[in-house]
Amino acid sequence: MATSTPSRAPNRWHVARLVERRVETPTAQTLVLELPDWPGHLPGQHVDVRLTAPDGYQAARSYSIAGPVVDGPGGPRIEVTVQRVHDGEVSPYLIDVFADGDPVEVRGPLGGWFIWRPEETAPVQLVAGGSGIVPLMAMIRSRRATGSKAPFRLIYSVRTPGDVIYADELRRRIRDDFGLDIAYVYTREAPEGWRGEPHRIGLADVNTHGWPPDLQPLTYVCGPTGFVETVADLLVGLGHPSRRVKTERFGPTG
Ligand SMILES: Cc1cc2nc3c(=O)[nH]c(=O)nc-3n(C[C@H](O)[C@H](O)[C@H](O)COP(=O)(O)OP(=O)(O)OC[C@H]3O[C@@H](n4cnc5c(N)ncnc54)[C@H](O)[C@@H]3O)c2cc1C
Repeated sequence: MATSTPSRAPNRWHVARLVERRVETPTAQTLVLELPDWPGHLPGQHVDVRLTAPDGYQAARSYSIAGPVVDGPGGPRIEVTVQRVHDGEVSPYLIDVFADGDPVEVRGPLGGWFIWRPEETAPVQLVAGGSGIVPLMAMIRSRRATGSKAPFRLIYSVRTPGDVIYADELRRRIRDDFGLDIAYVYTREAPEGWRGEPHRIGLADVNTHGWPPDLQPLTYVCGPTGFVETVADLLVGLGHPSRRVKTERFGPTG
């Protein structure tokens, strides 16, 4: 895994191929892409994916990289996880039409602010809304892959238990990754035995499951725009300095 900021020509388009696909939820899939000359990346960075239609029309969207680079038979591989946006142009194509072996253009790694460096030792709080889990999962996976001892807390807001992306892996990591705590917030339907009613994330969730400001944690918040703004306001209101609250907005709706 790369642990320094890769800077080699991130704006150059590479041709990648789909080599594997994993169904994460009924609306989200992980796509494993093989990129022969990928320079490496840091957790939190993203790529732009560009599609070109036979008539030359192009559409590009950003997707966070879900984990460390993995070596494969034809070259390095990266993973992205795509959540279907109803009526979207690119995400339904990537989930329903894009097939094994198909080429797609990818550029990156992009983003130099919303990154976690494994040499950091400060406590980390991660707050995800829906597919906002993707870059935060890259941080959780990188923590384990590098043997980091930084204590991590994840608060993950989803509509229902069936919407949890990486559900099995997160269950396993709560057990195996010492120093990682995970709390879920359900907005529409909670699993049996969950304490409380479904609700949108609020002060009590952040206060109970996050780190207190005096521990000077690094915070990463990612998800739909409204979610990110709400959580960032709550954290700053609790006394977290805004420069230590890093945010990434995925889309226009909350
Ligand atoms: C830095 C960055 C990283 C991202 N990482 C990921 C990722 O890891 N996984 C992922 O699934 N998406 C990610 N996104 C969002 C992604 O880039 C696209 O916006 C998303 O896939 C929708 O594209 P689309 O072409 O399907 O929809 P569009 O055709 O662009 O939009 C269709 C309709 O849906 C609305 N819309 C667009 N995006 C969203 C959204 N995210 N949520 C709700 N409504 C939306 C639009 O306003 C429009 O009304 C990321 C975005 C950014 C900026």
